[in-house]
This record gives sequence, structure tokens and C-alpha cells, in this order.
Amino acid sequence: MQNIQNYINGSFQNPIQNKWIDNYNPSKGEVYGQIPNSTKEDVENAYKAAKSAFPKWSQTSIEERSKILIKISELIEENLDAFSQAESKDNGKPISLAKAVDIPRSASNFRFFGNAITQFASESHESIGQAINYTLRQPIGVVGCISPWNLPLYLFTWKIAPAIAAGNCVVAKPSEVTPMTAYLLGEICSEAGLPKGVLNIVHGLGSTTGQAIIEHKDIKAISFTGGTATGAHIAKIAAPMFKKLSLELGGKNPNIIFADCDYDDMLNTTVRSSFANQGQICLCGSRIFVEASIYEKFKKDFVTKVKALKVGHPAEANTNIGALVSKAHLEKVKEYIDIAKTENGTILYGGNKVTVEGFENGYYLEPTIIEVPSDECRVNQEEIFGPVVTIMPFNKEDEVLKMANKVKYGLSATLWTNNLKRTMRMSNQLQAGIVWVNTWMMRDLRTPFGGIKASGVGREGGFEALRFFTEAKNVCIKY
Ligand code: NDP
Repeated sequence: MQNIQNYINGSFQNPIQNKWIDNYNPSKGEVYGQIPNSTKEDVENAYKAAKSAFPKWSQTSIEERSKILIKISELIEENLDAFSQAESKDNGKPISLAKAVDIPRSASNFRFFGNAITQFASESHESIGQAINYTLRQPIGVVGCISPWNLPLYLFTWKIAPAIAAGNCVVAKPSEVTPMTAYLLGEICSEAGLPKGVLNIVHGLGSTTGQAIIEHKDIKAISFTGGTATGAHIAKIAAPMFKKLSLELGGKNPNIIFADCDYDDMLNTTVRSSFANQGQICLCGSRIFVEASIYEKFKKDFVTKVKALKVGHPAEANTNIGALVSKAHLEKVKEYIDIAKTENGTILYGGNKVTVEGFENGYYLEPTIIEVPSDECRVNQEEIFGPVVTIMPFNKEDEVLKMANKVKYGLSATLWTNNLKRTMRMSNQLQAGIVWVNTWMMRDLRTPFGGIKASGVGREGGFEALRFFTEAKNVCIKY
């Protein structure tokens, strides 16, 4: 059994009330360890450690902070194999994916913000002949970071790195479903010389541990990634305390394919944008709209490609699709496939649970393509967050634009076309925080990242994140 502990004030500790939660390996459907089910008291201890570390950390030079962040990044890279295996075991994703994407990106997050903080500057404004104004960007104090299970270390570090780079101290909670790499990060931080109390990692349920963080009156800002309903709940609790909030929430992203695109590139990328990480990426293009003139060809080619994807144990080198993260999530995704049938959807491929030899209790599901008769059905409107996509044809640009925007979410959109004017027209009008044209999930960490509508509030990435984790104070000096 692999049991883990909270990381508070630089040391590993059991939860005060000695309550524990089972941790599952989704590829086997078995418990493989226990994690703390932390209570308010543990969060309070984490807060106190963060509070006492803050005066010194916030006054630590930028160079020193930067050096420590970059050291953390290097240590993650040195432990690439161990982190990748742990991520895959906890989440069900192929080890190859964790090794190529999740863990390198987690290291990049620390390196990026270690460098970014050395370039972060504030403004000054001269009121000519009267005064000079300059703006200080001061760390907030103790902040909370709460992350989901789909990209566990990747999203956890995407919040923690800018928070500590900017001079804050952190109380962080990873998803209780995937806590393992966050636990391993604690060891790395100590080894890199991060002073005790700067980062505190508290494990447990959202409804108890997470709730204690958002309700804590002295945790001044919350950076949260997760579901829209949870985001709304957090906003309700945090608003009367005037906490700063960054909410990165759900998505139901359109993938719009015009006949004039580079077809092979589009087809290969669409397979990825549909099913990477078992479709459990908030940015996946789960609604595919194809121009009518190439619809039948696309349908045939897409089904052929998806049929060739191998669903298997995450440790197998040739596995394309691993296990879904949990039994409950598998059931939820399967329910949506049933809903599609009642809504006159046609399952073009997939829809069934897969039994992987030797791992019969694992949570495996075929990649699933559903042809929908209208964009208004539930499978086309609600976030499924699994290996399920819908496809349907369209005739006109304004028709597809309307359908693309007709959901409550607005996270990302993908557009496949070689027509420059259309690209510009549509990019302007798509209701999304991120538009990819002729690519998907190409990320530059300097760019603003986030959604509109029910996909969230605020932006992460680059200086946006450093602005979020600081308070601006204007100083006006009269000549
Ligand atoms: P949840 O909203 O269920 O959980 C996210 C995190 O919040 C978890 O750590 C969870 O803990 C915690 N939490 C739950 N309830 C509370 C509470 N009352 N107070 C404080 N914290 C709480 O999301 P999932 O983990 O299921 O993640 C999937 C969702 O995340 C999808 O909707 C997806 O679209 C979204 N997402 C958005 C991204 C974006 O950048 N916009 C990126 C990735 C995912 P616990 O796990 O213990 O319940």
C-alpha cells in the first residue's frame, strides 16, 4: 500500500483526526493506498505555517525565488520516470502521455514562472508638472490553490508556481482522486530549498478540506480549476469575504472543420483533440462540426482512424487510450452514451466498456463517436468530459458560428480553414477564451489562458497569473 501524508511547514504529517480515504488505481479498479481526509484543523495548521513563512518569503529577492523555482523544475525533470509512473497509476492515463506531456509541462511551469518573475515590471505614470505615480505589485499573503484530477501535477503546478514566484505562501489541495504527484512534489520542494511553510499541501475531500480552504477568512485569494458547479459554489462562499478569485471551469468546445482545410493534418489532430487523455481535457473539441461537402468522407476516415486506437493498460507502450479516472466517472460517461440513444443519436463507433485482459476491473471505455441530428441535444450541450464526441454537418459559416456559440460554456474553439478572411471573422466572433486555428492545444505559457461564460472568470498564464497573485498599489508623489 502506498499511503501519503500532508506536507505542512516543510514536513510530512498525518491528518490530525487520523481520518483516511482510499486511493484507487483506475487501471485495475483496486485500492492501492490511503490519503489523509484532512479537516479544518489541518487546513488551519497549513494556514499558520504559510502565514509565518510569508514575511520572509515575500521579502526574499526575486533572484533567490527564481533560483529555487528553477531548481524545483530541474528536480522534477530528474525524476521524470517516477513522476510519470505515479501520475499514470493514479489517473489511468498512458505512462507515455504523462512522460511526454504532464510531467515535462509541470517542470516547465516552475521554470517559466521562475524566469517570468525576473521580467515582471509595474507601471509608472507621470502627471506632468505635478506628480509621479508608480504602481507597486505586492504579494497578497496566504493564497489557496485547488486543482482537478484530469491533469493532476500539470494544473496543480500551473497555480502554485506563479503564486510562490510572486512572493505568496500557499495552502494547496490537489484532487482527492489523484493526489500522488502532489505528494511527491513536497519532497522535491524541500530538496530544492523552498523554505518551510511557503508551500503546504493538504489532502482530502473537496467538501471538507477544499471547503475549509475557501471558507478560511484569512486565505485572501483562491485559484481554482474544476467543474462549473463547484466554481459557482466557491464564488458564493468567497464573494462576501471579497477574496480574489480565478476560476477555470468546464468546457464544451467546438471543433469547426471547413472543406478548404489541410485535410490530413486536421484529421490526425482531430483524433487527438477528441480523445487525448481519454477525452478528459477541458480543451478537448467534443463537438465536431464538418462542412457538408466533406462530411461523408470525414465520417468514414475519422471512424477508421478511431477504430485503430488501442484501449489498454496505461503502462503498455502501444496504448493510446488508458482507463477513465474513476468508476463513478465511467458510469457518468456511459450514462451520456445512453442519453444520446434516447435523443436519436447514432453511435458511429464505440459506446462500450472494454475489458482489458489481466485488468478486468479497470475503468476502460471505447472511444465513442456519436452522430447527432441536432446541436440542441444534451450530449451536444452538456460537458461529458470523457472519450465521447458528437459530429454533425453544416452548410454555412453563420450557421456553424451560431451553433458553436449556442452553449453555456466558452473555453476554447478550434477552426480548420485556409481562408484568411473567414479565420479573422470567425475568431472575432467565437465566444471562447482561446481560439486555435489549424492546430489544437499548442500552448505558449506567456499567453492568457481561461474562459468566458460558464467556463470561468479571470485568466492564468504569463503576467496575467502574476497580476492575479499580486495586489496593485499606486503611490503618488507630488513634485
Ligand atoms: P471538481 O469541481 O469536482 O473538483 C475540482 C477540485 O475542487 C478538486 O480538488 C475537488 O476536490 C475540489 N472541490 C470540490 N468541492 C469543493 C468545495 N466545496 N470547496 C473547495 N474545493 C472543492 O472538478 P473535477 O475534479 O471533477 O474536474 C473536472 C472538471 O474540471 C471539468 O468540469 C473540467 O472541464 C474542469 N477543468 C477545467 C479546466 C480549465 O482550465 N478551465 C482544466 C481542467 C479541468 P475533490 O476531488 O476531492 O472532490
